[in-house]
Amino acid sequence: MIKTILERDDLQTLSVESIAYLAIMEILEKKDPELVSSLKKELEDQRNSLKLIASENYSSIAVQMAMGNYLTDKYAEGHPFHRFYAGCDNIDSIESRACDLAKKIFGAEHAYVQPHSGADANLIAYWAILIKRIEAPFVEQLGKKNVAQLSNEEYEEVRRLFSQQKMMGLSLDAGGHLTHGSRVNFSSKMMKNISYGVDPKSGLLDYAKIKEQAIKEKPAILVAGYSAYPRLIDFEKMRDIADSCGATLLVDMAHFAGLVAGKQLKGKYNPMPYADVVTSTTHKTLRGPRGGIILCKEEFAPFIDKGCPYAIGGPLPHIMAAKLVAFTECLNPEFETYAQDVILNAKTMAKRFVERGAILVTGGTDNHLLSVDVMQSFGLTGRQAESLLSRCKITVNRNSVPMDKNGAWYTSGIRLGTPALTTRGLKKSEMVLIVDIIFDLLAAAKPLVNSEGVKSKAKVDIDEKVVNKTIEAVETLLEKFVLYPEILI
Ligand SMILES: *Cc1c(COP(=O)(O)O)cnc(C)c1O
Repeated sequence: MIKTILERDDLQTLSVESIAYLAIMEILEKKDPELVSSLKKELEDQRNSLKLIASENYSSIAVQMAMGNYLTDKYAEGHPFHRFYAGCDNIDSIESRACDLAKKIFGAEHAYVQPHSGADANLIAYWAILIKRIEAPFVEQLGKKNVAQLSNEEYEEVRRLFSQQKMMGLSLDAGGHLTHGSRVNFSSKMMKNISYGVDPKSGLLDYAKIKEQAIKEKPAILVAGYSAYPRLIDFEKMRDIADSCGATLLVDMAHFAGLVAGKQLKGKYNPMPYADVVTSTTHKTLRGPRGGIILCKEEFAPFIDKGCPYAIGGPLPHIMAAKLVAFTECLNPEFETYAQDVILNAKTMAKRFVERGAILVTGGTDNHLLSVDVMQSFGLTGRQAESLLSRCKITVNRNSVPMDKNGAWYTSGIRLGTPALTTRGLKKSEMVLIVDIIFDLLAAAKPLVNSEGVKSKAKVDIDEKVVNKTIEAVETLLEKFVLYPEILI
């Protein structure tokens, strides 16, 4: 039987964070010991690996604590001070303060902090935009108060008009997100999808070509934003494109919201002054809890605030509390330094890769991520590189490069990002070291060839000594940067 933490003789010496986590483990141990082992193992795995997943980060313990409590029990459909449930006074306070902070951080006219995730934020934003553009004027034209008053025939007409709308977003293989109109996602089913790509040679957005396409297709919604584009977007040009075809400009800053909050994206590279609606996750560069937010111009506010009933049910009050905590952290001047270091670290990695002779998509980076063409650089598929690196405790994800010859499953690239390692305290010199470790490992690997002489796209042939040496180098490097040093469990 494990001693309860209250009986420990070292209680006085433990940090409050350790005590909090030990208490959590003690409570959960009684319900499901296996869950506690998974929790402990996850901390160990995260501590012992080099996390270069561009979409991940490490949230603060305060953020984690804010979401682990009885706020989860509350229903709070509606928005602050306009609820469909009684007894939401404290949720009103939490949510309205989170909205105020989000407005302050980003300089937004309006904020909505209920989306459960980035995909949810897009789902709500798309409906809100369509309802504002199509349904609301239609209802008004008929002299009706709301959509419930339409006859069945009139409502069928709304549905028909909706299905004719087009959205235009960056294609998945060029670095766009599934919710930007991919065939396998709801977004291409609620509207007709037109995707734009990048220039096949430079890997860069070709604004003149996007404008030409937009004028021809006349989308209702133009989406700018990415999951894997290593450069800045010129939002002044995107605004001009949206205006040239009468589209609503939606910027999905899921990946780079932290760089905006940390004031590293200035002038035309800051989406806030240009976009009608901005969606984001809160857990990537923003370093908050897993969730989403929507920021918008005042004229969109009454529509965006109706995420429930449009698309979501009740909000997650415990997550909104954690968003509030994360937003207070973003307003700390330290967050600006963080965002600056994220970019500096990514640029340092890119420079070192190029010095060593690797090929990067667009030749480098201006943001928090880089895309290494491992096929051209090392003769490996993204999948081979990803799994070899993973064996050596370096986590990256495979990623398509523009015009990828290996398809979306094997791919020709890997995507690397610096948000997590920068939070962990790693700086420029470590970035150079990490690139050398990765480069030397991948350069030592060859695709495995079977007895019939066929090259594998998944497996590699490598000297185990190189693998062991790499693991040792990663361990040595991470010893100096303990993750959550205040947690001893
Ligand atoms: C990650 C991401 C999303 C989705 O966020 P989830 O929280 O995973 O739903 C949406 N858009 C972009 C551009 C993203 O990178």
